[in-house]
Amino acid sequence: MIIMKFGGSSLADCPCLEHVASLVKSFDEPKALVVSALGKSTDRLLQLGLWAEKGQTEQVKSGLNALRLDHEEAFPDLENPAEDHEQLFTELSSLLEGIQLLREQTPRSKSLLASFGERLSIHVVAAHLKNQGLRAQAIDARELIETADNGQNGPVDFVQSSFKCQEVLLPLLEDGVIPVITGFLARNKVGFTTTLGRGGSDYTATILGQIMKAREVWIWTDVSGILSADPRLVKNAHTLPQVSYREASEMSFFGAKVLHPKTIAPVARQNIPVRILNTFKAKDPGTLISADTPKSLAGVKTVATMHGLSLITIEGRGMAGRPGIARRIFEATELAGCNVVMISQASSEQSVSFVVSQNEVPELVNTLKSRFAFELDQGLIESIGIVEPIAIASIIGLGMSGTPGISGRFFGALGKVGVNV
Ligand code: ADP
Ligand code: ASP
Ligand code: MG
Repeated sequence: MIIMKFGGSSLADCPCLEHVASLVKSFDEPKALVVSALGKSTDRLLQLGLWAEKGQTEQVKSGLNALRLDHEEAFPDLENPAEDHEQLFTELSSLLEGIQLLREQTPRSKSLLASFGERLSIHVVAAHLKNQGLRAQAIDARELIETADNGQNGPVDFVQSSFKCQEVLLPLLEDGVIPVITGFLARNKVGFTTTLGRGGSDYTATILGQIMKAREVWIWTDVSGILSADPRLVKNAHTLPQVSYREASEMSFFGAKVLHPKTIAPVARQNIPVRILNTFKAKDPGTLISADTPKSLAGVKTVATMHGLSLITIEGRGMAGRPGIARRIFEATELAGCNVVMISQASSEQSVSFVVSQNEVPELVNTLKSRFAFELDQGLIESIGIVEPIAIASIIGLGMSGTPGISGRFFGALGKVGVNV
């Protein structure tokens, strides 16, 4: 069987959805679909949450109506939006009312709010498949994927998830029904809604690919594969025909938005090929991601950038030769819930620098100050420096190892355009 994942960019409106349904129909092999929220619905839902939190009732009302209208119009038969839709919009209004009353959002309520995008879209997509004469059933992935602790960002529990997937999906597949599954969503150990992070539907697709032992996972999007650079920044970026798991993983981690950073691990474990394909140019070959790929002659396959980051530097003459400082720094990042993107320590041991998201800095700095109150007081640590905003630029390709001169050219290119490293 094949897992086919369609991102929001492929599901913008009724004509796109019709096109997706006929594309699905054109492949005979048994398949399960993973779908994102329609268009930019997730952003719109999160915006509704912000308005509700600030008590901006009118905006919430009109935003909610617009969202409802867009979903109704996306159905193939305008007269008959699914019953489940009404229920979902009632539940969504109650949640927003709750947020307006409390004037507060918690991580749990944010996940629940974001979940409505995919919970709505599965019904729309299933309706379009049925309209094409296919047998399809909408499935909420919270019945399939479990995250391994009680929090909102727990790792996926593959053992529990596997039991659930076999139980729910196998009978449907054996019966020739196409499951249309919400991307992005999961449930934690105690039953609350969790998400796999923004852009997480790609990850849902490969989790299911691993569990269901798919022949291949196909990720349909609005570009013809992984490109040599972000096409929004570099107009003449070209498609990379083949990329290894390792390269794809690095590309997604360092900012190639086309794939969620965790997408590759589940499929690499089982050697399942992944294809990145263009919904609107289905004949384009796209990118094949697999274990073995030819190395690029140029060494470098892609350029990627990450934005909105801060560089934190903890510095002090009292840090050298004192065991435990690094441990305590990274305990603080954990405590503040920060994801550390990169770390470096000066060879003099007098400073440690690391990169985090800019929006995580205020809480992190407070945590660091309280954990190192003694050292700061005594002047053992002189400063906690923040440089922001910064970006990370990466060049990626397995062919770089053992090819001399690449970093020289990279830094030379940055120098030429006046970038300060
Ligand atoms: P989807 O809705 O299908 O999940 P995304 O918007 O998440 O689509 O990802 C596709 C987008 O990723 C492309 O439209 C493109 O602008 C952006 N992108 C950034 N870097 C790359 C890259 N190296 N290769 C391809 N696309 C990239
Ligand atoms: N809808 C979610 C998001 O916008 C997940 C996804 O599209 O992959 O982040
Ligand atoms: Mg995406």
